[in-house]
Amino acid sequence: MENRSNERRRFRVLLTMAQYLADTFKAAGWAESDIHVLPHQGGPGDQTASLIVRWPAAGKAPKKPILLLAHMDVVEAKAEDWSTDPFKFLEKDGYFYGRGTSDDKQGVTAVTAALLKLRASGFKPKRDLVVLFTGDEETEGRGAQLGATEWRKWTDAEFALNADAGGGSFDRQGRALGFGLQTAEKQYVSFHFSVRNPGGHSSRPRPDNAIYQLADALKRLEAHRFTPVLNETTRAYFTARAKMEAGALGQAMRRWVADPADGAAADAIEASELEVGMTRTRCVATRLEGGHADNALPQLARATVNCRMMPGSDPKALEAELKQVAGPHVAVTVSDPPNPAPASPLRADVVKAYTDSVHKRFPGAPIVPSMSTGATDGLFFRAAGIPVYGVEGSWGISPDDERAHGKDERLPVKALYDNVDHWHDMIRALAGK
Ligand SMILES: [Zn+2]
Repeated sequence: MENRSNERRRFRVLLTMAQYLADTFKAAGWAESDIHVLPHQGGPGDQTASLIVRWPAAGKAPKKPILLLAHMDVVEAKAEDWSTDPFKFLEKDGYFYGRGTSDDKQGVTAVTAALLKLRASGFKPKRDLVVLFTGDEETEGRGAQLGATEWRKWTDAEFALNADAGGGSFDRQGRALGFGLQTAEKQYVSFHFSVRNPGGHSSRPRPDNAIYQLADALKRLEAHRFTPVLNETTRAYFTARAKMEAGALGQAMRRWVADPADGAAADAIEASELEVGMTRTRCVATRLEGGHADNALPQLARATVNCRMMPGSDPKALEAELKQVAGPHVAVTVSDPPNPAPASPLRADVVKAYTDSVHKRFPGAPIVPSMSTGATDGLFFRAAGIPVYGVEGSWGISPDDERAHGKDERLPVKALYDNVDHWHDMIRALAGK
């Protein structure tokens, strides 16, 4: 019951937010026919609404539209875990506090404010701009799925700019550590490792036992390392990172970029807490079930193994490798299939617009192409053939402000206003000529 009322509350909140933004665009001069509030209620986790807003080009557009992505929903937060009420917006000591201040209400706010500012200043886009704000990025991702398929008549674009990835970080001394330009995301896929056995009375153990066989397979998986892979994005990432890292880690990065066959260098990078998952596909056991009675030999033991594949890699090859690792007694089956999405090519125009905008506010800050080890809405568009660039312009202090999904999430006040200017400048650069 509580779940169902949570779902209803969530639906009301997201629909209200989508409607509020729709009204804001309308009041600023957008035509009603260019604004679509789209409730969708597919199932649990998908009781929400998305918003699509089009800003048509002035005259005939020589280029396809640009899609602007952000998400309106947030991860859950419990008031008792926080120092302040997570759902009460608070400005204190130069920060905005509250769930979603960094992920990703700031993205929604900055893109919206930048578009309103551009319109008010008389800017006329030379190509269509299409906004898609989803309402379930943190759960089902249904808004992005629909956005990349059924709603394609509105959302079709040459490429997308995502306000839910990218952004900068500074150390406590104010030194710029770098601004990420996200061009790739690892792909989510889950498998079941299952062992079946005739079982029997636990007073008479058999030589084979489903739980022991599964445990052996999982220990082999723990020790297993997939072959390291460098792609265009991670090569650029490690080239930039190598310049910032002194010591053994920086050396390993330099060695690996110089020689992608140097597996030992890749292993040393992967072992660093900062770089977990950046050099290869990773798989890890996440759930376990088995047996049916305290006094019976198990007839079934099963684990869920969640994998994050390198973009563009072949899920069939991964499955075959897992079968080899698991051994002959363990059945390996896909439980949650992947949505294969290639890395997006580093487009010169996007890289330049992002770099220029960041450097206007932070001259000389390193620009670091990046691959997310998790996934965002961008994945569905990459899978559908629309390249996506995570080009958020906000920033925080590392590690103090890295609180997305965590306790006392916050955003420097200045970062929000910088981000509005950033989106203003980027959109002008990419849609103004
Ligand atoms: Zn997010």
